[in-house]
Amino acid sequence: MSGLFYFYFGAILGSYFQSLNSRMAKDQNLNFSNLNTESRRSNCDICGNDLQIFELIPIISFLFLKGRCRHCNQKISIEHLTSELLFGLIVLSLSFNASLDLNFASSILFFCLLFAIALFDLKFFLIPKNYLFVLILTSCVFALVNEYVVNFIFALFFTLSIWLMKYILDNVKKEETFGLGDVFIIFALGCYFEPILFSLIILTSALSGLVIFTIRFIFSNPEKKLPFGTLMALSAFSIEVLV
Ligand SMILES: [Zn+2]
Repeated sequence: MSGLFYFYFGAILGSYFQSLNSRMAKDQNLNFSNLNTESRRSNCDICGNDLQIFELIPIISFLFLKGRCRHCNQKISIEHLTSELLFGLIVLSLSFNASLDLNFASSILFFCLLFAIALFDLKFFLIPKNYLFVLILTSCVFALVNEYVVNFIFALFFTLSIWLMKYILDNVKKEETFGLGDVFIIFALGCYFEPILFSLIILTSALSGLVIFTIRFIFSNPEKKLPFGTLMALSAFSIEVLV
C-alpha cells in the first residue's frame, strides 16, 4: 500500500515538473520568475483551453480521457504520461530501504530535479539555470547535514578540473565542447555521492556518451549534440538504486 502511495506521489511530482518544463520551454530566459505572468492554471498544449481539476489528475486523467483533450479532441502529448510514470517509478525506487527522514526528502528532491533537467536536456540540449541553482543548493545542504566534507572537497577539485579542461578545449576547438550546465551538475553529483560512486557515475556517463557517439559516427550524424545531463541523471539514478 505504501508502495502505491510513493508511486502516486512521484506521479504528482512528474506532472508538476512536466508542466514546469513546458512553461520554461516557452520562456527564452529559462527563468522561474517569468512564469507567474502567465496563466497560473494548466491548459491544453494545443487549443490553450484551461483544464479543470478532473483533467489534471496524474495518470488517471490521461487514461480516462483516452489521451485526448476534452475541448479540441487532439491527442495529448505522451510526454505527460511518461513523465508521470517515470517520476512515479523514481520515487517508488528511492523509497525501498529508506526511512521517512530529511535524507529521503532530499533524495526525492535531488533526483526529481535531476530528471526534470534530464528531460529538458534530452529535448532542447539546454539546462535551465534555475534548476541548477536549486539542485546545487539541495546537494550542498545534503552534504552539510550529513557532514560529507570529503564529498564536498572532492567535488570542488573535480569540478574545477573539468571546468579547466572545458576552458582549454573550447579555446583550442574555438567552439563550446560541452555546456557549463553539465559542469554544475557534476558538482552537485559530487556533493551528493561519495567520491568512489561519484567517479563511477562520471565514468559510466562518459562511456555511454562514447558508445552513442560511436554508433552515430558509424550510422548517422556524429555532429549531433549529446545530452550529457541526461546520461549523468540515468547513471546517477542507477547507482543510487543498485549500489
Ligand atoms: Zn485542447
